Amino acid sequence: MASKRDYYEILGVSKSASTDEIKSAYRKLALQYHPDRNKGPEAEAKFKEISEAYAVLSDASKRKLYDQYGPEGFSHQFSQEDIFRGADFESIFRNTGFSDSDDLGTFGDIFSSFFGQQFAQAAGQSRGRSLQYEIEITLKEAFSGTEQDIPLRHSVQCPHCKGTRAEPGSQVRKCLSCNGSGQARQVRRAGYTQFVTIGTCRTCGGTGKTYDKACEHCEGKGSVHKAETITVKIPAGAYNGLTLKLRGQGEASSDGAAMGDLYVIVSVRNDSTFEVEGLDLHLDKKISFSQAAIGAKVSVPTIDGGDAELRVPAGTQTHTKFRLRGQGMPSMDGDGRGDQIVRVIVETPTRLSSQQREYLEALDSGAIIEKKGKKRKKGLFGSLLG
Ligand SMILES: [Zn+2]
Ligand SMILES: [Zn+2]
Repeated sequence: MASKRDYYEILGVSKSASTDEIKSAYRKLALQYHPDRNKGPEAEAKFKEISEAYAVLSDASKRKLYDQYGPEGFSHQFSQEDIFRGADFESIFRNTGFSDSDDLGTFGDIFSSFFGQQFAQAAGQSRGRSLQYEIEITLKEAFSGTEQDIPLRHSVQCPHCKGTRAEPGSQVRKCLSCNGSGQARQVRRAGYTQFVTIGTCRTCGGTGKTYDKACEHCEGKGSVHKAETITVKIPAGAYNGLTLKLRGQGEASSDGAAMGDLYVIVSVRNDSTFEVEGLDLHLDKKISFSQAAIGAKVSVPTIDGGDAELRVPAGTQTHTKFRLRGQGMPSMDGDGRGDQIVRVIVETPTRLSSQQREYLEALDSGAIIEKKGKKRKKGLFGSLLG
């Protein structure tokens, strides 16, 4: 993963920039890179990057932490969701054309991929609820990529009324309860304090419309329940915590607007052979005392299901690590593969036959070296461990 760039640098402002300077720098860049206007290949990534920088630097307490810990330290402490929580984007986009109702769809959509549903709703768009599904795969599946079936029970737009709730052909009128706004204001008093809650109009379900005859198929709900199985493609190089977004596979919304999304969270089961660290795979390989002393070629399993030959040089100490380049996990960006790191564990024999003991004692005292001319017994040390 690329290292974090400096937020000040991203927005092109100095470290002492005022909040107003940060806002105006962001507004300028946002209008330039907003994916609605800029169809360049890097526009969306760039838009996300500047929005993240803005979300942090426009918030005094986050900015203070950022200044203290720097880009790397900060990103370790805050999740993407935390970074964007509470950031004010609405005032930035007011009167820019992006807050007009027609643009809210894409506007909210882009932001909902950062902070999820809440922001999209704050931006005035009532998408359906997003769903989450956790899926567990093996390390081998993560290595090669896999397809998994997900049994999904969700609400989808009613095919009969297309989510309008009205029986096709029936007369549609403005909802009188909310005067077509779709919102219901509720005022509650506690002592001198007045609380105003704005919710969805119950009469029209937020659509602002009523009709003569409710849809017969969904009984005027606009959505129906559906159980289906969808196939999710998990890419090679998938890692623990990887989240895949399946657009429009969540729940239908109450007013026939866009469907929510389905987030598939991948968890990779612990493997009995390999331990994963980033793209590298770690493996312990036991070798015998004599293999360590005189050197050996040993075979180690690899993640692709094959074997690799590892040359252990003479005089290798226990816990020495060897690197098999390019035998690790594939990068999802197509940046090649990590390495396999083999740690050799030298096993010292615990039980010796009296003959083996004699030989080792002789070796220790140098007696074997002195016995010149006598043929060395082949395989003696190799058999020490059986
Ligand atoms: Zn219907
Ligand atoms: Zn209404």
